[in-house]
Amino acid sequence: MSKNLIIVGGGAGGPASAAEAKRGDSSMNVTIIEQGEHVSYAA
Ligand SMILES: Cc1cc2nc3c(=O)[nH]c(=O)nc-3n(C[C@H](O)[C@H](O)[C@H](O)COP(=O)(O)OP(=O)(O)OC[C@H]3O[C@@H](n4cnc5c(N)ncnc54)[C@H](O)[C@@H]3O)c2cc1C
Repeated sequence: MSKNLIIVGGGAGGPASAAEAKRGDSSMNVTIIEQGEHVSYAA
């Protein structure tokens, strides 16, 4: 069964964490929740 990861915040740290998690386990279901309109704007 695939693991689920929910990340709150889509600034710099959120997408970086998502990418790292997928590199470690490509079957993981990763969801980023961002309150604003844009993601990765600071990366
Ligand atoms: C004016 C300024 C200039 C900067 N310039 C540079 C630079 O030139 N080079 C550099 O390396 N760094 C720079 N930084 C620092 C860099 O922006 C931060 O280190 C980086 O953005 C931190 O990333 P983060 O993911 O930890 O937090 P953030 O970028 O703050 O991301 C957090 C995200 O979480 C979201 N969020 C918060 N609460 C919730 C919630 N309850 N539900 C959903 N979403 C939520 C926010 O909307 C935000 O998008 C600068 C910072 C500032 C303020």
